Amino acid sequence: MITASPAPAQPSPALADWRQLWREAVTDARELLALLDLDRLAGKLPADDAGFPLRVPRGFVARMRRGDPRDPLLLQVLPQLAELDAAPGYSRDAVGDLGALAAHGVLHKYAGRALLIASGSCAVNCRYCFRRHFPYAEEIAASAHWREALAHLRADTSLSEVILSGGDPLSLSTAKLADLTTGLREIPHVRRLRIHSRLPVVLPERIDAEFCAWLSALPQQRVVVLHANHPAEIDAGVAAACARLRQAGATLLNQSVLLKGVNDDDAVLAALSERLLEAGVLPYYLHQLDRVEGTAHFEVDDARARALVEALRARLPGYLVPRLVREVAGDPAKRPL
Ligand SMILES: *Cc1c(COP(=O)(O)O)cnc(C)c1O
Ligand code: SF4
Repeated sequence: MITASPAPAQPSPALADWRQLWREAVTDARELLALLDLDRLAGKLPADDAGFPLRVPRGFVARMRRGDPRDPLLLQVLPQLAELDAAPGYSRDAVGDLGALAAHGVLHKYAGRALLIASGSCAVNCRYCFRRHFPYAEEIAASAHWREALAHLRADTSLSEVILSGGDPLSLSTAKLADLTTGLREIPHVRRLRIHSRLPVVLPERIDAEFCAWLSALPQQRVVVLHANHPAEIDAGVAAACARLRQAGATLLNQSVLLKGVNDDDAVLAALSERLLEAGVLPYYLHQLDRVEGTAHFEVDDARARALVEALRARLPGYLVPRLVREVAGDPAKRPL
């Protein structure tokens, strides 16, 4: 007799191992240009990647338009000769991070929340990065130094939120993140854990089952702030990673940096907000660029930035309009513009 056995439940397609994808990232500008049929731009590359190595996961490259030297994703990662131009007012530590270190790898600038520089590595190197000159090797809270960070958190009962930043905190293994959160269990005044990461966008495979199991089991409230600057960054793989994060109990927000030639256009910013919402993410901040050496060619002036946000307000519901802010060294919070 033939009995019909129930069809096995369809497992969701296995995610590729994120570490492997991390290692396979493109790190050679000429290879990147060749992948995009842009070999003709090779003569315009700065020597030595202008001192900040190119790095971009292949899955992110796949979202770039071939043959388009102005592609908004490409412009975020490709070293440019303009990075070598001296620009008055641009420095190496534009936001006063070095003066705000409260303990090893701990930045405590604002009331109630402390930021841990959890890791110095990133899956992608963003050309506009405000930490491109930060001395990561010396100032990382992870490994043996979680101890110092935990001691700082334990001693200051005014802290209710820990922010993991970097570098990219999700470059750490889930086991290393768990070392920190095991320590946090003994610090009841820390009620929220916030993670700032670009990995769900540039390498969504990082949001794997092990990570989601860790995130779901945390006693603290979880907030994950993604960093996406352009709607073309958010493909189906990113939306699926966002769904996994939400399922693990995280509230999802996004912050963007306003970048000339990338997203300084109200239609692009509106499309970004709508794409984010479709993925269950609310826009949080739109940052004015930090004035860090090598990034001046991305700057949008404040008057134009305000006009862009006014234009957004005219076309979107209020909850889809990000707050336009700048970080000013010494201020008690990000400064609204
Ligand atoms: C940006 C930042 C925060 C977070 O500020 P929010 O306004 O709460 O998002 C916290 N600590 C430091 C050091 C920061 O730079
Ligand atoms: S992921 Fe964030 S910290 Fe890393 S290079 Fe990009 S902007 Fe900088």
